[in-house]
Amino acid sequence: MKTDLDTQERGAMLQEYFESWLDGLAKPACPCAYPRLRAIVAIDCRDYDGVWMCLETEILLGLLRPCFDIVPIGGVEGAGDDTWTCPVCGSSYQYGWEEFSINTSIQYLKPLQLAVTDLGAPPVVPTPLFGGIVGHTDPPFHSFEPVDFEGFRAYFEERA
Ligand SMILES: [Zn+2]
Repeated sequence: MKTDLDTQERGAMLQEYFESWLDGLAKPACPCAYPRLRAIVAIDCRDYDGVWMCLETEILLGLLRPCFDIVPIGGVEGAGDDTWTCPVCGSSYQYGWEEFSINTSIQYLKPLQLAVTDLGAPPVVPTPLFGGIVGHTDPPFHSFEPVDFEGFRAYFEERA
């Protein structure tokens, strides 16, 4: 297997993988029922005093956006923070977005109230990532662990 994939190639593989996961393996429930997914979309570099983004987080949030009912906090569209509510289970999340510079922005989705029975296994630290962390400052190596695609897939799909 090719191991020297660049960010764009890894992103394309993850995009295709997450699309098929949402259409297939995730189907017994809504995406909320997978704690490892919840942990990945909640990754926020500011919690680690860094300036970087996580490829998995960005790609998943792009795919999850159409799955949620979205209400801007304070009723102001595009202000950055929104409340996302799952129409299937009723769980709600705070969606945040911040731009650090012209080509570095981050987004995250952090639970406000979960109303779901977990189907997936709980997250572990360090979190295995295939796409990984891209940015201006070093990632916190004790929190995230680079793995190959199969390693990430095995982690992401593990059931409770
Ligand atoms: Zn849900």
